[in-house]
Amino acid sequence: MPEVERHSFDVLVIGAGGAGLRAAIEAREHGMRTAVLCKSLFGKAHTVMAEGGIAAAMGNVNAGDNWQVHFRDTMRGGKFLNNWRMAELHAREAPDRVWELETYGALFDRTKDGRISQRNFGGHEYPRLAHVGDRTGLELIRSLQQKVVSLQQEDFADTGDYESRLKVFQEFTVTDLVQGEGGAGGKPGKVAGAFGYWRESGRFVLFEAPAVVLATGGIGKSFKVTSNSWEYTGDGHALAMRAGASLINMEFIQFHPTGMVWPPSVKGILVTESVRGDGGVLRNSEGKRFMFDYIPEVFKDKYADSEDEADRWYADPDNNRRPPELLPRDEVARAINSEVKAGRGSEHGGVFLDVSTRLPAEEIKRRLPSMHHQFKELADVDITAQPMEVGPTCHYVMGGVQVDPDTGASSVPGLFAAGEVSGGMHGSNRLGGNSLSDLLVFGRRAGEGAAVYVTSLSERPACSDEAVVEAERVALAPFSGTGGENPYTLHMELQQAMNDLVGIIRRADEMDQALKRLDDLKRRARSLTVEGHRQFNPGWHLALDLRNMLLVSECVARAALLRTESRGGHTRDDYPRMEADWRRKLLVCRASGDGVTVAEEAQVPIRADLLELFEFTELQKYLTAEELEG
Ligand code: FAD
Repeated sequence: MPEVERHSFDVLVIGAGGAGLRAAIEAREHGMRTAVLCKSLFGKAHTVMAEGGIAAAMGNVNAGDNWQVHFRDTMRGGKFLNNWRMAELHAREAPDRVWELETYGALFDRTKDGRISQRNFGGHEYPRLAHVGDRTGLELIRSLQQKVVSLQQEDFADTGDYESRLKVFQEFTVTDLVQGEGGAGGKPGKVAGAFGYWRESGRFVLFEAPAVVLATGGIGKSFKVTSNSWEYTGDGHALAMRAGASLINMEFIQFHPTGMVWPPSVKGILVTESVRGDGGVLRNSEGKRFMFDYIPEVFKDKYADSEDEADRWYADPDNNRRPPELLPRDEVARAINSEVKAGRGSEHGGVFLDVSTRLPAEEIKRRLPSMHHQFKELADVDITAQPMEVGPTCHYVMGGVQVDPDTGASSVPGLFAAGEVSGGMHGSNRLGGNSLSDLLVFGRRAGEGAAVYVTSLSERPACSDEAVVEAERVALAPFSGTGGENPYTLHMELQQAMNDLVGIIRRADEMDQALKRLDDLKRRARSLTVEGHRQFNPGWHLALDLRNMLLVSECVARAALLRTESRGGHTRDDYPRMEADWRRKLLVCRASGDGVTVAEEAQVPIRADLLELFEFTELQKYLTAEELEG
């Protein structure tokens, strides 16, 4: 019997961001003994960085808004590749999840008549983002944590132990899931727990639990220029694959149009879309407001074609069309990329985002306090008086674990996923604000799904000693090599290759090259060497992260090479058109040995009543002739 620290729970939630905390609250409210595990300090998850807001069709600022309009916008933003059932549940349930947050103690900015205020964002027809200045993620996490504490207080009153039903384990990394015996026909075994280590001491721990909810966020750290933090190494994506689950939509990566480009030390840090939602405009080095030249055919009737009309829209949105700076993110990122390539970029390779000539200084400081602070501190730029230099940055992965829309269940019994680690909801491109709402809607559903699953079990699958010994062997492997390479070298090479060869604009020959580099990196990673011991050893942590990053990067590169069209967050120089036939297909990635196979799978046809929410002329832009006849 291996000597490791052991804990036993009903539901394990891996991740303490918005999705993880909402799932944990739900599982605990269904009576499950629930644990939350997270790599960083509790309260430091990626969600805390979210700035702009939560999208929910509450109709507080424009009564014309409702779930159907939100659904339509989400499908358009994702270029109709979205899992329509997820988009429907999301649009219907997001308002309830926001109001519920208020009952947990969230304090949103208000309208003059005291309702939750909502702001404009790219791709949303009406002002829809509930917000707290530009620090919405912080308030979301604060309120969810407050709810966790209140549940723990209830548990103390009941049992004398605050952590009897809901316990948080922070600075802990899960390296592998543990499963019971596999089913007939090579079916993956039921989830039995998770194995990992305390980051500080390096000591191993086994968590035994029949249900695991993955809420580990994204994969952005595989790209050199990114808005994502150190935690985004695709752990949940890789854990799911190794357990036998499939990933979908991995070719779709969102490059946010506005990341900082200068100074180099902060390149990639996000400049929130609220700057544009609140009136900010994009200009090139010639001072031209260039977005008017980049309105694609599918959006022509919805966006203003003159500066006058665009400016009038802020005061009179019912009688004017939106400014093209508020096109979905993929469109704006490509436009900036083209301007820079054409030699009309800023000194440091970006373009100019100006809010200083659009709003009074005091208003900018009130609406965008974090942006004001960020530019002053990091770039010595006063955004109330000067434009910002901005350019695209890897921001969000649309792809993730293939789940049942209603319960978050993956194809592995007992394994659930919610939030950025899951796939389908956003199709080929996510609209800003739709992630925070996704976390709450599907975090709740996954927590409930896990609880219902556990209740249905007649017995708990056991964690075998062999599985624990194997997980320990894999985790210790980086210490056994001698004379191998340093994990930092491989990490930097991976980020460079993904940025340069599978980035914002893609070509077959470059992706072929990327796959060769990934193969080479995989080979070298097998013999990399980590110096020192297990107590807080960043080299070792990175070596373990690399295993996950290489696997998910291969998914991105292989799926991107196979999809011979351009759609949302996947732009091919060699296949620039969007092809209606491709909309009917998902690319499904599965682990095979230490590599990846990708297969086509038919997309489930959209339900007729949802299709009827669109004009026929709009559907003609996306659907095949055969579908339109049907
Ligand atoms: P996260 O909040 O990232 O949490 C992941 C958790 O998993 C962390 O606790 C981490 O420690 C843990 N974890 C990961 N791997 C492991 C492991 N192996 N073992 C243990 N724990 C692990 N979206 C919006 O809708 N509106 C916005 O305004 C907005 N602004 C954004 C601003 C920035 C700068 C960024 C980067 C993103 C923004 N987004 C926004 C996107 C949104 O914030 C994220 O998509 C969302 O927060 C992801 O939440 P999550 O719960 O899925 O994961």
